[in-house]
Amino acid sequence: MDRRSFVKSLGLGAVTATVTLGELKAAAAPFKIVVVGGGFGGASLAKYLKLWGQGNIQITLVDAVSGHVSCILSNLVLNDQKTLADLTFDLTKTAVKNHFAFKRGVVTRIDRTGKKIIAQAPDKTLFTLPYDKLILSPGISFIYPKGMDPKLPGATAPIPHAWKAGAQTTNLRAQLRALPSGGKAKAIMTIPKPPYRCPPGPYERACLIADYMRTHKNGGKLIVFDANPGILAEPVNFGKAFTQIYKDIIEYVPNQTVVSVAGAAQFSAKSITVSNGTASRTETCHLLNVIPNQIAPKLLFNSGLIDTVSGKQWAGVHMDTYQSLFDPDIYVIGDAHDSNQPKAGHIANSEAKVCADAVLRHLGVLPPRAMPDEAPVTNSACYSPITASTASFLTAGYRFDPALQAMVRIEASFGEAETITRDNYTNMLAWANNLFADAF
Ligand SMILES: Cc1cc2nc3c(=O)[nH]c(=O)nc-3n(C[C@H](O)[C@H](O)[C@H](O)COP(=O)(O)OP(=O)(O)OC[C@H]3O[C@@H](n4cnc5c(N)ncnc54)[C@H](O)[C@@H]3O)c2cc1C
Repeated sequence: MDRRSFVKSLGLGAVTATVTLGELKAAAAPFKIVVVGGGFGGASLAKYLKLWGQGNIQITLVDAVSGHVSCILSNLVLNDQKTLADLTFDLTKTAVKNHFAFKRGVVTRIDRTGKKIIAQAPDKTLFTLPYDKLILSPGISFIYPKGMDPKLPGATAPIPHAWKAGAQTTNLRAQLRALPSGGKAKAIMTIPKPPYRCPPGPYERACLIADYMRTHKNGGKLIVFDANPGILAEPVNFGKAFTQIYKDIIEYVPNQTVVSVAGAAQFSAKSITVSNGTASRTETCHLLNVIPNQIAPKLLFNSGLIDTVSGKQWAGVHMDTYQSLFDPDIYVIGDAHDSNQPKAGHIANSEAKVCADAVLRHLGVLPPRAMPDEAPVTNSACYSPITASTASFLTAGYRFDPALQAMVRIEASFGEAETITRDNYTNMLAWANNLFADAF
């Protein structure tokens, strides 16, 4: 009897006092699991899969970088409340703490027939890793507007997005510092169409840029061009921030799509043209922060995990397991899959636990889920700093509906903070520390 049949024939429910998980392991080599991406989704998945799968599971996490930089709280780097070092998590240490292996490399190809990934190590050599199950949590890619060059180094690009935390965040911070004082500074930022990661994030960023301009530059002007018809997340609290707290700094302009941008160097003038479909508007400024439209990483397109025939831009998955619609041995969690759940780190951590549980059930290490009682539930939270000492938040819960085969929002669980408070700011730091500790 091979390992799979052996484990399946027993199932955890049928394990008697004389047949333990340890004996299962002794009877067969552990299942090989490869996880790509050590962010909130991938790192959490690796931890819980190992915790719940124990000796039956051998996990290797692969990431392009040795330290994952959290986007969560990264807007606070702009006004000096956090440093990038505070938000960087050493994946080697995470792997030791949570008992899995970590290998640094950029995954360039998935060989679905041979069931292996091909990756490039930092020294440019290629390595392969075979898998029984592959879990992908690679985050997002961008669709850049005309004039924004993705090949420029993030640390010095004239027009940073800073929507992947790291060099781009430091660049945006440096440009903020270089703004002229005396209320003469002019900054512009843009907000993309959904789906994009962290629905409240761009509005939060506008508040923190305005806060910095008020505190360090005697004010100035920040134009926020939003591709959407209105504020998409926390409309009450961000509405209040834009029209009351920062009314002398922020000009919020909805329905504006970016047509093109230009900027020759990091600290020289930039320009942008936007359009509302009937009229266009061109502005020049000292600082231009464009958050581009978002799309799943190329690896997922190249691996046939996205229904491009139907025009999809994100990986198709079964929403109760995150198993790919196109390959039963591949799962996609976090920002990269097609979902009505928000693209956010908190919910990626929640999805990771649902997916880890599903993988163990599919491998026969755990018994099948009893539906509908064991229908998966996820939840999301985004805290939004509004000033250097106050914050708002947005939260939502979702439950899988077997009839609809979809995650359905639990209405009673959805909503933004009643108001902007100092307590929310304190709670934000506690919430983030808990999430960081759970994931890394
Ligand atoms: C400014 C800002 C504020 C935010 N605030 C919040 C918040 O308050 N709450 C919240 O819940 N969410 C927030 N988010 C969103 C959150 O950061 C993302 O949704 C979350 O990081 C998604 O997790 P992930 O695992 O899908 O991807 P990521 O965290 O992006 O991780 C992807 C990992 O995969 C690696 N990778 C990618 N491709 C490859 C490859 N080919 N080979 C090897 N490795 C690869 C990357 O190096 C990276 O480490 C915020 C985002 C931003 C930008």
